[in-house]
Amino acid sequence: MRTELEKIVGAAAVDERPVRDLWPLGIMDERAGNPAPKVLLVRPAGRDQVAAVLRWATANNVAVTPVGGATGVCGAVSPQAGEIAVDMSAFDRVFEIDETNLVCRCEAGVNGYALEQQLNARGLTLGHYPSSLPGTTVGGLVATRSSGQESSRYGSIEDMVLGLAVVLPDGTYAAPRPGPRSAAGPALHQLFVGAEGGLGIVLDAVLRVHRLPEATLGRGYALADVRAGLECMRLVMQSGIRPLVMRLYDPEDSAFNGYELGAGECALVVATAGSRKVAEAEAAEVTRLAGEARGLGEQPWERWLAHRFDLSAERMRAFLAPAGAYLDTIELAAPWTVLPELHARVKAAIGVGGLALCHFSHAYEQGCCAYFSFAGAAGTEDEARATYGRAWEGAMTSALELGATITHHHGVGQARARWVGDEMGGWMRVWRAVKEGLDPEGTMNPRALGGSR
Ligand SMILES: Cc1cc2nc3c(=O)[nH]c(=O)nc-3n(C[C@H](O)[C@H](O)[C@H](O)COP(=O)(O)OP(=O)(O)OC[C@H]3O[C@@H](n4cnc5c(N)ncnc54)[C@H](O)[C@@H]3O)c2cc1C
Repeated sequence: MRTELEKIVGAAAVDERPVRDLWPLGIMDERAGNPAPKVLLVRPAGRDQVAAVLRWATANNVAVTPVGGATGVCGAVSPQAGEIAVDMSAFDRVFEIDETNLVCRCEAGVNGYALEQQLNARGLTLGHYPSSLPGTTVGGLVATRSSGQESSRYGSIEDMVLGLAVVLPDGTYAAPRPGPRSAAGPALHQLFVGAEGGLGIVLDAVLRVHRLPEATLGRGYALADVRAGLECMRLVMQSGIRPLVMRLYDPEDSAFNGYELGAGECALVVATAGSRKVAEAEAAEVTRLAGEARGLGEQPWERWLAHRFDLSAERMRAFLAPAGAYLDTIELAAPWTVLPELHARVKAAIGVGGLALCHFSHAYEQGCCAYFSFAGAAGTEDEARATYGRAWEGAMTSALELGATITHHHGVGQARARWVGDEMGGWMRVWRAVKEGLDPEGTMNPRALGGSR
């Protein structure tokens, strides 16, 4: 197997080692003595090599997992013995930044943070800021259907992707179609946005970019409780304002983030952006809509900005190093009317002795994402797994019963394999038909969307 792959990509571009993302249960498994198996990690350079690797894998019935920055948190990157992984790091070119038409075209292995810095140097922004941005690649951001801290203004990755170049398991190449929009059939490239590498390999992306705002004004507010905070967020989104950032922390998350508020109070951080006049007018309108809320000044915004990438892979690994430690995040989305009950039920489910926090961000006119974090330490590995499992079970069951989505932006992978069919219902038949049509031999990532082999 190694010799044949070396013939395609060259000996220097094949490694043998364990390949795994940051799924906490995977890290807990490793800690408990079940390390990830070594697999062949192939680093193709150029479209022809990718096509040749996929054709070889399909002909030899070898499963292929594409790998970007491996910052995924759902176990979608977890190739098993006898499978191979395709490292996209050689695809690292930014082909074009078109400052007139506001589009950029870059390869899938380009680092998300490096791309944003290149755009910023030209007065532009993609506006895509997942907390993990420094470790991500464009291909991974696309394949997970990711969403960033500025999504209320710029949208999530599906709103940014104008076109994709992909290679299918049989080696077929599909180039990006012309923009800015086409009615020549469905936008089929969107099938790859969130496919978790299950349909083919994304080679490059044409992305919509924006001019950096002239001014950004951020402020904090103390709201009486979660309901009052959510009501304020709803009013802001439905007034037509598109805040750059808007985040509401429940009382426990407010305290965890160092806000000294009254009992039951919640911190809300809002930033408006645009020309100075627009940013100021929108900030004044947010203050009006916040009604009785107590103003906390600019300090909460400045502090948030300074810490926006603090939750790193290294910190996760360090927290999970001791035996019995558990930690995870669960991001759900629901209509405004459902969010208070979803918050109460999921908090009860994950509050099983350790830390249980929630903040709300990624707001829409119709609803918002509720982002839960839980962590603790159990006496034994078995207890840690059981506690962790109960938290997930409670959160997923609550989401499904209340009509919330089981994931807003982390995706499915192995973490949500048990529940994805319950959310997708009849759409699972559509997904399977697409999967079987494009990948009849089941070559592409067997752990995408909960597994399809
Ligand atoms: C601390 C931390 C904070 C995070 N914060 C956020 C957040 O704010 N928002 C958010 O959305 N996510 C967040 N994540 C999750 C993660 O960073 C995202 O899912 C990110 O998009 C993954 O990108 P990656 O390049 O690391 O992809 P990987 O983890 O390498 O891969 C993810 C999936 O994409 C597939 N894939 C990768 N490259 C390609 C390609 N070229 N073609 C086809 N398929 C491909 C893989 O097979 C896999 O299924 C966070 C993770 C961590 C650890």
